[in-house]
Amino acid sequence: MPIDHRLSPEHEELRRTVEAFAHDVVAPKIGEYWEHHEFPYEIVREMGRMGLFGLPFPEEYGGMGGDYFALCLALEELARVDSSVAITLEAGVSLGAMPIFLYGTEEQKRTWLPGLCSGETLGAFGLTEPGGGSDAGASRTTARLDEATGEWVINGTKCFITNSGTDITALVTVTAVTGRKEDGRPEISSIIVPSGTPGFSVAAPYSKVGWNASDTRELSFADCRVPAANLLGAEGRGYAQFLRILDEGRIAISALATGLAQGCVDESVAYARTREAFGRPIGANQAIQFKLADMEMRAHMARVAWRDAASRLVLGEPFKKEAAIAKLYSSEVAVDNAREATQIHGGYGFMNEYPVARMWRDSKILEIGEGTSEVQRMLIARELGFAS
Ligand SMILES: Cc1cc2nc3c(=O)[nH]c(=O)nc-3n(C[C@H](O)[C@H](O)[C@H](O)COP(=O)(O)OP(=O)(O)OC[C@H]3O[C@@H](n4cnc5c(N)ncnc54)[C@H](O)[C@@H]3O)c2cc1C
Repeated sequence: MPIDHRLSPEHEELRRTVEAFAHDVVAPKIGEYWEHHEFPYEIVREMGRMGLFGLPFPEEYGGMGGDYFALCLALEELARVDSSVAITLEAGVSLGAMPIFLYGTEEQKRTWLPGLCSGETLGAFGLTEPGGGSDAGASRTTARLDEATGEWVINGTKCFITNSGTDITALVTVTAVTGRKEDGRPEISSIIVPSGTPGFSVAAPYSKVGWNASDTRELSFADCRVPAANLLGAEGRGYAQFLRILDEGRIAISALATGLAQGCVDESVAYARTREAFGRPIGANQAIQFKLADMEMRAHMARVAWRDAASRLVLGEPFKKEAAIAKLYSSEVAVDNAREATQIHGGYGFMNEYPVARMWRDSKILEIGEGTSEVQRMLIARELGFAS
């Protein structure tokens, strides 16, 4: 069967709709939010009304009945203009709602998914701890089942958790050690903690280098009690659950990184056509044209990589290696393109009012979040048969 590189009519329509939204609604306003470190409630509400938070979920839970590929298309188009809104969507869907959809009971799905799919509420996923993110199996947060009251009692701290402290955050799913296996290794489970539960504190937002209009917080749990029924999936399955969630999430981050890389090309081509030096547009110089050609090449290949990984996921094929390759490649490409875009813009590239300055600062986290570049290389090497 020949390979068809074209999007389906439904996917293409979605892509165009989000492209227009990013251009018409996000672009004129987001710089202001970003500079003031404000969460863009108004834009997020509109994204919710468009159905973006429900894209990969069935209609019976309030979703749009689409697929993960559709989500990635939307993320790429949003990140072409701004990464804060894109990561708010990515984390809301793939870290907030997806664990509940994949592992929740029917009751948990009916309770939480309609709000999360409409964007009226946001969910978060708390895996990383101050003691370490890459080695997530070394979790120190604990949850003990109090048999007398039928409640989990959670103690510990999570850090860098996206979407965890907005006014519309409804829950965070946290990983916690719930026991020890026979070989002494920790048994990790996932538990849903609704916002406002006594003993669950959310710190003030971090001051970050980038993603300034997204919400990132430290969370602490001090004898925080939730019903036993808030366990997500089977007890002790938390480690396996988040490995799957992160594998999927890497494709979404790859699409987001591709969008940022493409946004750098868009902005730089436009600037190179109009900015003049030595009596002619800077784009008349082959040195600038070659930079732009390399940037376009990198964005294109990043897109090919995420679409390949997402297609495998949607088709139910193995996608672990391809997801790691896509995440690794596209995040490094995003950083490279952001650096070159700033260079092409000269001094204006260092001014926050120019989108490429925002993109430059937003790009670095892509090599860190949802698994660092080193972790992606470890995963790829493992797929090549090397034990890490
Ligand atoms: C803005 C932001 C949002 C985030 N959102 C979330 C979220 O919503 N939920 C969540 O759970 N987490 C979130 N994170 C956490 C993120 O996933 C972690 O920061 C990331 O996984 C890295 O963990 P760490 O920061 O503890 O670094 P570490 O694990 O301490 O790593 C430090 C360095 O050592 C390297 N390293 C570690 N082990 C090895 C090894 N074996 N070989 C070679 N190099 C190694 C790493 O690659 C890295 O370069 C977020 C982080 C940020 C900054």
